[in-house]
Amino acid sequence: MNRQRNRTALVTGASRGIGLETVRQLDRAGLDVVLAARDLTRGRAAARGLDSPRIRVEELDVTDAESVEACAQRLADDGIECDVLVNNAGIYPTVSYFSLDEDIMRRALDTNLMGAFRTCQAFCPGMAQRGYGRVVNVSSGLGALTGNVPSPAAYGISKAALNALTLVVSAAVPASVKVNAACPGWVRTDMGGRGAPTGVEEGADTVSWLARLPDSGPTGGFFRNRRRIDW
Ligand code: NAP
Repeated sequence: MNRQRNRTALVTGASRGIGLETVRQLDRAGLDVVLAARDLTRGRAAARGLDSPRIRVEELDVTDAESVEACAQRLADDGIECDVLVNNAGIYPTVSYFSLDEDIMRRALDTNLMGAFRTCQAFCPGMAQRGYGRVVNVSSGLGALTGNVPSPAAYGISKAALNALTLVVSAAVPASVKVNAACPGWVRTDMGGRGAPTGVEEGADTVSWLARLPDSGPTGGFFRNRRRIDW
């Protein structure tokens, strides 16, 4: 008898924080998970803490197109099809607009926007072809344009652009591939700091919920606490 294979999720920037917690939640939900990290040693150490046979560690630097392609190729060579993509890798430059140099601006865009641009190009065509896909772009309310000036400048602009990419990709794939953005809230991680009010488990909840949406679920939306919010 043909047993249906597990869904496979790939989470970028999964060496710590919300990415690592998303891996844990998706593993608990029974998915096979690719824990993708730009530093293999850090990725392996993180995976050891989760101790699950369903987790595979891959090197993936989202700022490096060759690294994204090489990761996709290794998975394809091993017959692993990526059904779920969580674009979580991110950096948080806090420099204000007039102190911002081009290098910082470029790095923010390269990681927070172009990272997802690259991975979506690498993995979404396969999802569309197979008739199933879930993409979650881990964004931020700081990038919202409604009732908010995107901030800090480089971060806010990069997340506003990631939100735009979310809509563009959701319109470019068939309805069987659901593409959404999530704001995890202000979360206690290295990025969010110790004073943040939200624990990592709650922060990753909307992300892993969107990663496991049923076929009747939404696409092209922006969500926090499992509720739609304004772009
Ligand atoms: P974090 O603790 O600083 O972790 C960031 C992760 O991204 C790390 O695993 C880091 O890897 C990885 N990363 C950075 N650059 C990368 C690259 N070029 N390629 C691959 N991985 C890369 O941050 P976090 O709080 O978990 O944030 C995760 C996501 O949530 C980000 O997109 C962030 O913007 C978003 N977010 C966070 C908050 C919050 O309050 N924490 C709020 C809103 C949105 P290394 O370990 O190698 O550095």
